[in-house]
Amino acid sequence: MEAAHSTPAWVLLAYLVSGVCFILALRGLSSPESSRRGNRLGIIGMTIAVVTTLWTHLPGAFAKKTGQICNQMYTATGAGEPVCRDLTYPPAFVIDWQTFGLILGSIVIGAVIGLVTARRIQMTAMPQLVAAFHSLVGMAAVLVGAAAFLNPDAFGILGSDGILQVSRVEMGLGVAIGAITFSGSVIAFLKLNGNMSGKPILLPARHVINLGTLVAILGLIAYFTQDQAPWVFFTVMALSFAIGFLLIVPIGGADMPVVISMLNSYSGWAAAAMGFTLHNSAMIITGALVGSSGAILSYIMCRAMNRSFISVIAGGFGGDSAAAGGGEVIDRPYKRGSAEDAAFLMSQADQVIIVPGYGMAVSQAQHALREMADLLKEHGVRVKYAIHPVAGRMPGHMNVLLAEANVPYDEVFELEDINSEFAQTDVAFVIGANDVTNPAAKTDKSSPIYGMPVLDVEKARTVLFVKRSMGGVGYAGVDNELFYRDNTMMLLADAKKMVEEIVKNIG
Ligand code: NDP
Repeated sequence: MEAAHSTPAWVLLAYLVSGVCFILALRGLSSPESSRRGNRLGIIGMTIAVVTTLWTHLPGAFAKKTGQICNQMYTATGAGEPVCRDLTYPPAFVIDWQTFGLILGSIVIGAVIGLVTARRIQMTAMPQLVAAFHSLVGMAAVLVGAAAFLNPDAFGILGSDGILQVSRVEMGLGVAIGAITFSGSVIAFLKLNGNMSGKPILLPARHVINLGTLVAILGLIAYFTQDQAPWVFFTVMALSFAIGFLLIVPIGGADMPVVISMLNSYSGWAAAAMGFTLHNSAMIITGALVGSSGAILSYIMCRAMNRSFISVIAGGFGGDSAAAGGGEVIDRPYKRGSAEDAAFLMSQADQVIIVPGYGMAVSQAQHALREMADLLKEHGVRVKYAIHPVAGRMPGHMNVLLAEANVPYDEVFELEDINSEFAQTDVAFVIGANDVTNPAAKTDKSSPIYGMPVLDVEKARTVLFVKRSMGGVGYAGVDNELFYRDNTMMLLADAKKMVEEIVKNIG
């Protein structure tokens, strides 16, 4: 059986090289030390893939413009009797110069928007930017699926019996995953951007509705292989948009990080499914890499958060308790300190553990923090950094910021490697972190963060908390009873300003 459009060997080789670049890029991104190299390899891989794809679709670039499509497996005539027909290479595979100009123009516009956004974006807005990008990947998959459905001949997926059955499965899955990724990412964007509350929004009977919708989507995709009526295809699309919304809306508090990496994974699978529809192996490889690495990251995040994967996917885990739980700030006496007090306490200490959180990112205090740590070291103090897996608003957020400030990697420790050390530490310096230190996660079953492992900062002799006011709560929206403990001193100010003041007082 001759393939509908045989891809030249050099194209496959180029896609393979770009695939290898992506794998090496992922490997590079696994450590802050090699992440720049990883990024560069990713750029090279993507450039090879884009240039190759464009080149192969140029008029005359493909050796032949005509070919034969044979449908052996899915014809009414039965297996073993291939039905072939000649076809001109579909327009989607050989483009004219005008279309090429349009594509090039779109690439330039997209590149300019990407460049300006990347330069302007604040590090704190990175998580919502990533969510926005995921939504675009999802929408692209939906649009490609819809285009292929409406004009299957142009995509080379038209057999004698209508759209090839295997393509119907690919399209159905691709559009479903793409639509879920789109609406889910839009909700994640709104929550991370503060346009929607980070607290769970719980619909009555949501589990029944979610399960029913998912079963309906899968059933309709199966039915689509038998009946390619437009209502089937577009109902799959509409239900998938709805389920993406329904799945993410109830997720709040501590489960958001898992959702972000899950949506990352979905966007990869959506792209891979569309790679099959477009017969583009680079897209299949890239999609599968993004999909599987996102899935692994979700698994790691679930483990770090002590959450079950299924309960997060089902949506609204811990939500009922969140509704019952906190949100109100406790009106209790607390000890307030100054930069001078903090400088004195820390310069007298043997060991200080710094716990950065989202507030450090907001105020961009990492450079001042590093300066403070350097000064403390000059005073003979041992300084370490404790990183919670979900500190900040995206996986690896704190590591990126500390690496930007050239904090030595050997001073940075993960939760499980440092938690036992707080008990032998003089000062825990918590800068803009709240939820990741909240002991309610260990003790209060009604708290939305219950079950999440936290940094045991309260075991240090003194805990210094830097935050702007007693009124502000963390992402999960709950107060932290550590603020009112005897061994806690509150340093109420913008993180960067406070650290700069402390630096002046140590120096
Ligand atoms: P939190 O959101 O719990 O707390 C942030 C703290 O920073 C608050 O106490 C806030 O208090 C303070 N703050 C904010 N701005 C400033 C500033 N300019 N100067 C000083 N302090 C400031 O952060 P954590 O890092 O402890 O926890 C992360 C939370 O985000 C977790 O609940 C996690 O589940 C969630 N999350 C994490 C994601 C990830 O992938 N890492 C993704 C999505 C959500 P105040 O306003 O009074 O200053």
